[in-house]
Amino acid sequence: MKFETLGLNKAILEAIAATGYTEPTDVQARAIPEILAGSDVLVSSQTGSGKTAAFMLPALQMLAEPHPVSGNGPRVLVLTPTRELAMQVTKAAETYGRRNRRVRVVSIVGGMPYPLQNKLLRQGVDILVATPGRLLDQMQSGRVDLSRLQVLVFDEADRMLDMGFKDDIDAVVARVPASRQTLLFSATLDDAIVRMAATMMKDPVRIDVSGHKTRHVNIEQRLHFVDDLNHKQRMLDHLLRDVDVQQAIVFTSTKRAADELAMDLIGQGHTAAALHGDMKQGARNRTLENLKRGRLRVLVATDVAARGIDVQGISHVINFDLPRQAEDYVHRIGRTGRAGRSGIAISLANVREAFQVKLIERFTTQEIPVITIPGLEPKQRGCDKSPFDRKGKPGSRGGKPAARKPGVWKNDATASRPSRPPRDGVHPARSADGRHAPRDTDRRGQGAHGGADRSASGPSTSSKRSFVSDNQSTGWKKASHFAGK
Ligand code: AMP
Repeated sequence: MKFETLGLNKAILEAIAATGYTEPTDVQARAIPEILAGSDVLVSSQTGSGKTAAFMLPALQMLAEPHPVSGNGPRVLVLTPTRELAMQVTKAAETYGRRNRRVRVVSIVGGMPYPLQNKLLRQGVDILVATPGRLLDQMQSGRVDLSRLQVLVFDEADRMLDMGFKDDIDAVVARVPASRQTLLFSATLDDAIVRMAATMMKDPVRIDVSGHKTRHVNIEQRLHFVDDLNHKQRMLDHLLRDVDVQQAIVFTSTKRAADELAMDLIGQGHTAAALHGDMKQGARNRTLENLKRGRLRVLVATDVAARGIDVQGISHVINFDLPRQAEDYVHRIGRTGRAGRSGIAISLANVREAFQVKLIERFTTQEIPVITIPGLEPKQRGCDKSPFDRKGKPGSRGGKPAARKPGVWKNDATASRPSRPPRDGVHPARSADGRHAPRDTDRRGQGAHGGADRSASGPSTSSKRSFVSDNQSTGWKKASHFAGK
């Protein structure tokens, strides 16, 4: 199929040609004609599928027509869960809109200085890209006028719900014109998303681009069993010394672990840096820039911070700590294999975590082959076959897998106890010694202005997505101190 068949105008086709795209991706081919026809669309598609262009190209086309009412307020609003994704969408809007008549794109995210945001908003905006908390903050201060809004886009809507943005989203939606067109993109269209869509969309056309089964065909997945932290660290060092690793993202489950592991890797001679939500926005931007420019080979990141990173040089994703939710696994590995390239996703797990791996495999319906590396073989029993093949209890006291919701697990040590109700919507993570480990809460907007962006630690409206995990790096770290590190 050609872009020319989708009904896009000449300026946009020229901009697409200039980016080097030769044909639309699946999501673009299916969503663009519907959006141009004025329908609301509810789309399940992965990051990496070309979803940004799927909503941005028709939005830019709409901007080519003058608005009947003059004013400074945006005509297109894109809500994203994270600052990184907001910046990526902003950049995409600028790239795809470069042949359009002047299109003003502004992003409003937590952590950004207010005076600069205020100035940008005063100058007028066509496309506003925002995280919900900071946008609401600016709306309440009367600096954003949404009365001219024509297109409202939710990008990675599932993640916004996971991060507790539902109330903020409702507050924003209550203040945009009912006549708007609504476009909702989400990796999964689960009950929470469909319920949300029912309240804010008009007869949406549902487009399922890729189920879990067909995703990530260009990403080779591997599982290495490890005995303990020391083994895990040696394994990571070995993996990163592979010359095939162009650039890698290594995931940890906590911010502290990200910092500590990045320091360890630097000590071992790797070009590494951490990325997490406790870092100042400037430092995060510099780290991402270094990654994009290839000056950084290894990024040690938490889930929220790495969300939406689109760097084509990422050849490997390594789960140093397993993700808390199976859905996060899919988001993590989607950082590699970008734009049609191939990638390798490696998970490191001990035998007690086999149950978590099994839940991931069920979620993706893909087996993750167990690989052993000569000289780094695990000594523990039961590390020789894939959790996919295991019947019954893969991880000792794992309980009955069938009773659990897909994508939600409890680690073996806590599975037999009822999980404590979250105090503030978040289950405290525990380290292996029973102490509470700091979660990767990635609280945002906590600067001098008290920005309102929230994140995984914010009030979760989908507590079914939270769970307790013992797979905490601090627990492992403690073991490493015992090991005399
Ligand atoms: P997204 O899913 O929007 O994050 O896009 C993922 C990557 O695919 C980005 O690097 C885009 O530049 C790239 N991309 C988007 N559309 C196309 C296309 N039609 N052909 C090739 N690459 C594309």
